[in-house]
Amino acid sequence: MSVVSSANSASVSSPSTSAPAAPSPSPRHIRLTSHSSGLGSIPIRWGAATAQERGPVVGTTTNRAHRNVIGTHSGSYSVYRALAVAAGALKREHKADLTNTSPTDVIGPYPQWSDPGRIVSLDPWGASVAEVYAGELAAGYDIRPTIAVTQAHVILPEVIDALQKGRLKADGKFLTPGGAAVVTKVAVEPVWYLPEVARRFNCSETDLRRVLFEETGGMYPELVTRSDLEVFLPPIGGQTLYIFGKPRDLADTSVELTARIHDECNGSDVFGSDICTCRPYLTHAIEECIAGAQRGGVGLIAYSRKEGRALGEVTKFLVYNARKRQVGGDTADQYFARTECVAGVQDMRFQELMPDVFHWLGIQKIHRLVSMSNMKFDAITGSGIAVGERINIPDELIPADARVEMDAKMAAGYFTPGVVPDAEELKKAKGRGLSE
Ligand SMILES: [Zn+2]
Repeated sequence: MSVVSSANSASVSSPSTSAPAAPSPSPRHIRLTSHSSGLGSIPIRWGAATAQERGPVVGTTTNRAHRNVIGTHSGSYSVYRALAVAAGALKREHKADLTNTSPTDVIGPYPQWSDPGRIVSLDPWGASVAEVYAGELAAGYDIRPTIAVTQAHVILPEVIDALQKGRLKADGKFLTPGGAAVVTKVAVEPVWYLPEVARRFNCSETDLRRVLFEETGGMYPELVTRSDLEVFLPPIGGQTLYIFGKPRDLADTSVELTARIHDECNGSDVFGSDICTCRPYLTHAIEECIAGAQRGGVGLIAYSRKEGRALGEVTKFLVYNARKRQVGGDTADQYFARTECVAGVQDMRFQELMPDVFHWLGIQKIHRLVSMSNMKFDAITGSGIAVGERINIPDELIPADARVEMDAKMAAGYFTPGVVPDAEELKKAKGRGLSE
């Protein structure tokens, strides 16, 4: 439904009489995005069967008449791009040279791509724009990939340890004798189709647009002035996928798929901070993915930039202090309450959009899901993907200080094949004090 009648006629140029006395080499008018442009822009028909019918996502800032989305490319990095332009380091008219950048593996197209409600937060054609929109590119449209697919070796001390202890064996194909896992990795930027994103969150599109506009401090006026633009490139982090084995096997339900959706935790994932189980869970899942690929299956880690339950690291560290300074010390029974006191909610990750990337990969069944999160499990199965076995982290991999988190999660109903801690157990202080 219409938010505001199409284009308004806001004054879009600063009158030359108000220009500074000093002559500027290239005076530019500021163009408000609410101004009706549209001429020359290609319509987007979300969920259409082919790339041509769907139309390219054009988020360029160089030719505004070509834009058919709200926001611009690269998520939060769009702000760095603006800084680079402001600093004179980047020409605003720069167009990407896409020579030799095409995906190392072709993903899809899969039937899920043309189901408008199935994929709403990424562009299924985002990896192949140079190919499927070659004509539009040649006609001068600045169309950028929102997905990139490449190959890599990943080398982790935990995998080398598993190799040395005999849990994994090198095969020279999926795992080298030196302990490098051979992967396909995929970077995915968010592309939101607002009508269906609103539906996922059970709100009206009008309300979603208005709240996005207001809660970003009015960063994207088009959200409320241009109801004809239905696609939004939000300034948030995306996802990275690590695929162990052949990417096309992900869509084959007869091939065993081991998968983990992992939400970013920089402190643990990268720096080894021991207050949570994030890195041990991640490396355990990678070990399971390698072993799965070696059994003839395929493995997938989907890594989402949702730091600290999407609350951000500042909030997360404030919560750590509040937990460890509270009367009685760091206990599992207060684990969620302390987060809620600081942030107002326990969790803002909202897994509703997460399964989209699985549908993009053509996945219909996850045979082995390495996760204890019910939110993730419910979102995946609720989107129509079957889940076989659920694999949780072995006890010996849980750091001592992370016991608080594990007990709290198990008591809150997270999946566990073992004993759920009772109320008395949850009151025992198990986390280190701040000065320990
Ligand atoms: Zn963590």
